[in-house]
Amino acid sequence: MKNTIIELAQNLIRRPSISPNDCGCQAEIAQRLEAVGFTLEWLPFGDTLNLWATHGSEDPCVVFAGHTDVVPVGDESQWQYPPFSAEIVDGTLYGRGAADMKGSLAALVIAAETFVKNNPNHKGKIALLITSDEEAAAKDGTVKVVETLMARQEAVHYAVVGEPSSGKVLGDVIKNGRRGSITANLYIEGIQGHVAYPHLAENPVHTALNFLTELTTYQWDNGNEFFPPTSLQIANIKAGTGSNNVIPGELYVQFNLRYCTEVTDEIIKNKVAEMLNKHALKHRIEWNLSGKPFLAGNGKLVKAAVQAVENVTKITPRLDTSGGTSDGRFIALMGAEVVEFGPLNATIHKVNECVSVDDLGKCGEVYYQILENLLNGE
Ligand SMILES: [Zn+2]
Repeated sequence: MKNTIIELAQNLIRRPSISPNDCGCQAEIAQRLEAVGFTLEWLPFGDTLNLWATHGSEDPCVVFAGHTDVVPVGDESQWQYPPFSAEIVDGTLYGRGAADMKGSLAALVIAAETFVKNNPNHKGKIALLITSDEEAAAKDGTVKVVETLMARQEAVHYAVVGEPSSGKVLGDVIKNGRRGSITANLYIEGIQGHVAYPHLAENPVHTALNFLTELTTYQWDNGNEFFPPTSLQIANIKAGTGSNNVIPGELYVQFNLRYCTEVTDEIIKNKVAEMLNKHALKHRIEWNLSGKPFLAGNGKLVKAAVQAVENVTKITPRLDTSGGTSDGRFIALMGAEVVEFGPLNATIHKVNECVSVDDLGKCGEVYYQILENLLNGE
């Protein structure tokens, strides 16, 4: 399986599919999958190409999810090997997307392909959900495919996202959830005036101070077994005209919360509204929810994944929910258990992005065994 994975990974890296471009990656994958009996469905939205490929029709449905788009290469002269040449040197595959995530995408595809070849009458259903819009807007990719599937009541029970989850060595971390992320754009209104005539003005910086102290010191929760406590950070704050004799008319504060499953976006919004009222601040606020938190806990998929990783790498993975958001957040909306497992993330989005060839082979074995544990067990 390893050689086929590496060959496919190299082919994918040689296609310069900077987000949201796909550059034929999905067509190459689709051709392979179709050859072993997968049914293909193309779901393009806007400038984004998405592929939904399935094999089998029973429950449960196991999804392998990944993306073909990559982030820009930056200063190309900084790269030791050209970013789209997919060079292998001393057992390491170099190139943009090698680790995030064309390498693990190739491993997911070959694992599914091999499993279906070896088990043509497997239980359940295997699906690949592949998008070209994960790194940029993430508006026309997985989220739209999920909406389409939900509208026609097509269920997904388990999803493995091939994002690079490993830290120091392959297999040390499986992500079994992610925190939620929500941003507020808050405008506190005052009355602009001359600093020499404060009685004719109202300084929103001053009136907001107590509120901001409360906002930034409030303990939202204590986290839980799988999540650290919810945290709030002010990302941007702005007031004033630049002049030293003008009391500003408005204070802009932008803050973001990374929140765990102990609170909800509704609880957060209500609490902030309560604080604003308590301090009698005239304001307007706009909320932007980029992802609700999700947690696979220690369910059947997590157990299957842990067992597979232990088998292949001889390491017991730590279950972890840290890091930014991923497309897992959309699939989790379907009520599916979602885990992320993939190679080392040390070089992702950097120059000289690379991945160990051996690790990609092992990723393929892990993905294969997850299918075996979920669909051939009992
Ligand atoms: Zn990625």
